[in-house]
Amino acid sequence: MKFSPEKLSIPDRRMQPFIDPGEIWSFINKTKADKVRVREIISKSLAKQRLTLEETAALVNAAGAGLTEEIKEGARELKQRVYGNRIVLFAPLYVGNKCTNNCRYCGFRASNAEAIRKTLDDGEIVKEVEALEDNGQKRLILVYGEHPSYSPQYIAHTVKLVYGVKKGNGEIRRVNINAAPLDIEGFRTVGASGIGTYQIFQETYHPDAYRQYHLGGKKRDYDWRLTALDRAQEAGIDDVGIGALFGLYDWRFEALALVRHTNHLEACYNVGPHTISFPRIKDSTSLQLDKQHELNDEDFKKMIAILRLAVPYTGLILTAREAPGVRKEALQFGVSQIDGGTKLELGSYSDTQNEAQDLNREQFKIADSRSLADVIDELLDSGYLPSFCTSCYRMGRTGEHFMEFSVPGFIKRFCTPNAILTLAEYICDYATGETAVKGWKVIEQNLDKLDPDVAGDTRIKIDKIKAGARDLYY
Ligand code: SAM
Ligand code: SF4
Repeated sequence: MKFSPEKLSIPDRRMQPFIDPGEIWSFINKTKADKVRVREIISKSLAKQRLTLEETAALVNAAGAGLTEEIKEGARELKQRVYGNRIVLFAPLYVGNKCTNNCRYCGFRASNAEAIRKTLDDGEIVKEVEALEDNGQKRLILVYGEHPSYSPQYIAHTVKLVYGVKKGNGEIRRVNINAAPLDIEGFRTVGASGIGTYQIFQETYHPDAYRQYHLGGKKRDYDWRLTALDRAQEAGIDDVGIGALFGLYDWRFEALALVRHTNHLEACYNVGPHTISFPRIKDSTSLQLDKQHELNDEDFKKMIAILRLAVPYTGLILTAREAPGVRKEALQFGVSQIDGGTKLELGSYSDTQNEAQDLNREQFKIADSRSLADVIDELLDSGYLPSFCTSCYRMGRTGEHFMEFSVPGFIKRFCTPNAILTLAEYICDYATGETAVKGWKVIEQNLDKLDPDVAGDTRIKIDKIKAGARDLYY
């Protein structure tokens, strides 16, 4: 059911800017939180209700190691209840780094003469996707600079190209996009190519700070970017991802603004964002930023735990910008998706000769350059269930429907069996002997937690996979 302002006689806020910095700062400055209040808020969240801005501010302001630990513990518990122990895996594929914008933090900015510009041609895209498939990837996010060359038609073309690449048992089953904001018609064109999520980060939600970091090009227009995902929704893309780039402005403000963005989308379109990302700034060529708003590891982990509690049903993405140790720890607090085997240099997945990172060819430097196999190995060692599931989006369980299905029982009926089936495929096609042993053990442990009829049916499907069947899902 789409939003209908006439029926409810409330103002239509679609495609209207919704961030009021004074309101957000007033929540941060005026909300006090004692132990009792913090515990009440955590309980509300554990009952799977989204938190208000005031409640999020209370968690942000909760001081002292004891309360921070309670927030983290709440987030651990909630993650377990809503997501179980699955971690969804994906990889980014940089398609082109030409850019007309001047974002001060980004190596691709137009004024950076050091950057080596490249757009993959169709043949190179196919080679990259084949290399990714050879590693076992099933879900990609395609990344583009903002440039007239990367028109909606071009983006749609590359999406279709990627879906068409099949090597051995390999195929990409979900293509997400991280690209510039489009107009409604542009979003329609890209949506029609069959994308999963359209992801756009606001970078900083604070309008004055935003102006200081975005020095040229279309991206200077804060409101155009802020309302981009409204236009995506109007164009029928109901699966959208939001994010902020941490280190540009006060993390407390950005955390509340992400919740504000979530409740804006929920109020207008009956569905919040599918995912939230919280990248921290990494080194890039000739980067000159002061470190005034740098987010340290401790506050970063607290912030992830707060977001987990604030938006119980929204996926949280943590990328290879972060070092393996930080990722491992942060996973517990509610992260549901990570990338593995990530390479940012254009064309580098298929270029096995050149393993060194060259900052002039990359948007920024990553801190976790482990292979997908190594990331999976660590997940298995830590008791997680790695998943390449793409079922909901292919079964039409997206947007509003995704929310409907995010109810007790859904995970055990759909998500866990699908994660098991995709892991079984990975083991059969790509895992080394040692990882395979660990993987089958984790599969057994997870089958044991399912209802007997679901476990029985899943075992039948696993046998089919062992016999050569692929792409079995619920
Ligand atoms: N050009 C499009 C845009 O700006 O939205 C999409 C792609 S941009 C390549 C993807 C994201 O990378 C940006 O939204 C920004 O948050 C992030 N990013 C840029 N520079 C970064 C840096 N130095 N460290 C970490 N993340 C960065
Ligand atoms: Fe261009 Fe995006 Fe980098 Fe900004 S963040 S310079 S828009 S690629």
